[in-house]
Amino acid sequence: MCKLMDVKIDKPKRFYSGVRWRTNSSNKKRLAIDFKNRYAYCDDLDKHGGGYRSYHVEHFAPKDKFPELEYNYDNLLYSCQYCNILKSNKWIGNTHNVSVIGNEGFIDLCEDEYCKHLKRDEAGKIVFITELGRYMYNELQLYLNRHKCIYNLERISLKLEEIKQEIETKKQKGENTDFLEEIKNELSNTFYDYYGILADENG
Ligand SMILES: [Zn+2]
Repeated sequence: MCKLMDVKIDKPKRFYSGVRWRTNSSNKKRLAIDFKNRYAYCDDLDKHGGGYRSYHVEHFAPKDKFPELEYNYDNLLYSCQYCNILKSNKWIGNTHNVSVIGNEGFIDLCEDEYCKHLKRDEAGKIVFITELGRYMYNELQLYLNRHKCIYNLERISLKLEEIKQEIETKKQKGENTDFLEEIKNELSNTFYDYYGILADENG
């Protein structure tokens, strides 16, 4: 059986509770920090996922149904446009604090609970491990190739950085770096493969 990891590498933490700002742009700036530039549900890093400008302010309990929560910071998430549009105003409860009924609904990913339902496999694909996870997975289309691509772009670029530093260190010591250069080139090619898949998907 393959090893599963948590979807959220680093659980986001909101710095504020209640209404702090009454504009999306102010909330957005701070959400990016609190969410460490990662899109809410899928964990896509904004750098590879379209950038800060393509980000949306996601209202966990939809603002159409609960207008009083439009600027409540506890209800806001930093979300990629895909997850945000797909979640839209879907809400299972009749009140803002009922987000799940049975095996349907959404979990705020600032809660530990989120990672009990959704995981990531070794290839970088998001997978569900519970029925509620299946609901979120399907509603947010977390199976989209772009999430796997963005995860791997980040993983490869971190590895590339490590290898470049190692090559530098070896060069300074006058040691042979042929093998590392070979790995670096292979990783670069893989990076562009994923980049191409993502570009096709965006197009
Ligand atoms: Zn997303």
